[in-house]
Amino acid sequence: MIYISPDNVAERLVRYVQIDTQSDPNSTAHPSSEKQKELSKLLLRELQGMGIIDATTDEYGYVYATIPCNSEKKNIPAICFCSHVDTAPDCSGTNVKPIHHRYYNGNDIVLPDDTTQVLRMTDAPYLREHINHGVITASGLTLLGADDKSGVAAIMEAAMYFMQNPAVKHGDIKILFTPDEEVGKGTAKVDMQKLGAQFGYTLDGGEAGSLEDETFSADGATITIEGVIVHPGYAKGKLVNALKIAGAILDALPKNEWSPETTEAKEGFVHPVSVNGIAEKATIQFIVRDFEDEGLQRHHERLTKIAAAVVEKFPGARMEYVVAEQYRNMKKVLDQCPYVVQYAQEAIQRAGLAVKKESIRGGTDGSRFSYIGMPCPNIFTGMQNIHSKLEWVGTKDMAKAAETIVHLAMIWEERG
Ligand SMILES: [Zn+2]
Repeated sequence: MIYISPDNVAERLVRYVQIDTQSDPNSTAHPSSEKQKELSKLLLRELQGMGIIDATTDEYGYVYATIPCNSEKKNIPAICFCSHVDTAPDCSGTNVKPIHHRYYNGNDIVLPDDTTQVLRMTDAPYLREHINHGVITASGLTLLGADDKSGVAAIMEAAMYFMQNPAVKHGDIKILFTPDEEVGKGTAKVDMQKLGAQFGYTLDGGEAGSLEDETFSADGATITIEGVIVHPGYAKGKLVNALKIAGAILDALPKNEWSPETTEAKEGFVHPVSVNGIAEKATIQFIVRDFEDEGLQRHHERLTKIAAAVVEKFPGARMEYVVAEQYRNMKKVLDQCPYVVQYAQEAIQRAGLAVKKESIRGGTDGSRFSYIGMPCPNIFTGMQNIHSKLEWVGTKDMAKAAETIVHLAMIWEERG
């Protein structure tokens, strides 16, 4: 029986969310915002305080640490638990004032600093499962930052458990905290050699028991349109305006399908994210998403065809279609080592929860890790309403996430 106290994990979350770690999508620096390092430094001190002697942080804001193997078995793979320290740029993360509602009673929670922000069970039915348990919210002006400090708190609490309970046998456990996940650069400067883990788990998921082993495959696509430019006073029959072609291409996209606003579950889409240009030359940038690589291919072909048909109507105009790979569905990698997900399922069950297998309509650090040598599904932490002022997390869910980590390390040792 492994027990981790919800109050202890809650205390950690409350401490971590008060440090502003918002990442900056417009920065080219690593980390994208220096302030993220404040939390990394605190985590380093806390890990060292637990007696984890090799804990380090670097100039990019990553934190690495090892809880060494304490088993006689010699061939247990090193496994990594990973969370991100940054919070989303979508909503302020400055002066977060966390509120721990210790015995949530089912009533509306009115956030005190902006009373128009009300957390209601009718909007968030999952709250029902937290009646008489602890719920943590922000105060109305900021996000909470449970994404992903609930994961950070769960990993830290599990680390403490391992250090205080040497009778619990495990192989090498690697801890990794990353900056800049929310701006898609969580793995940009990670040192996989230094990390030295064969398999990993991100703690960056939602409802208790959820386990995600599948993400989108993602590409960017850029359509560049060249018009024909002539002095506008003498342009009759000659000038072809690239901006108008760009508009016509956007208008030619299907209205009732094939977009983020019209798809769900396993459906893919294309989504124009920016248009730039002058009359002479314009570009449209798209993101293209699907769970299957073949699906991505089909989306590219369809989009090229639609755009080309529009451009054809403008004599003299030319277009170019360029694809840039962004990330790939982690499932392809995980299917080659199915035990990584199976052990996680078993650990969740040992923690007393039902497993909810889910797929993510997005990417995680884990999708990138899976393709740079560390297969890495995603485990729940309890976080809800992420990237918003109504973000919340149940404290018992975070504790269950920490228990799942402990069980998972034990399972790897048993099978090692
Ligand atoms: Zn996250």
